[in-house]
Amino acid sequence: MDTAQWFVTLGGIALIALTLWFFFGKRKPAPPAAGEAADSYACPMHPWITSPVAGGSCSICGMALVRRDQP
Ligand SMILES: [Zn+2]
Repeated sequence: MDTAQWFVTLGGIALIALTLWFFFGKRKPAPPAAGEAADSYACPMHPWITSPVAGGSCSICGMALVRRDQP
C-alpha cells in the first residue's frame, strides 16, 4: 500500500468516524435543563405562565406546569 492509498484509507475512516459522531451525538438526549427552551413548561389554563424546568406551578391558579410538545 503506497502513501496515496494510506491517505485515502485514513481519510475515509476519519470521515466515517466524524459522520457517526455527528449523528449519534445529535441523537443523544440532552440534559433536562440544559438544551430546552426557556418556556418548555406552561400552565394548561394560562399558557403565558411558563417555566424552563419541570415541577413548577402556575402563579395564578397553582396548577402544575405541563410540557409543551409543540414549539
Ligand atoms: Zn394557571
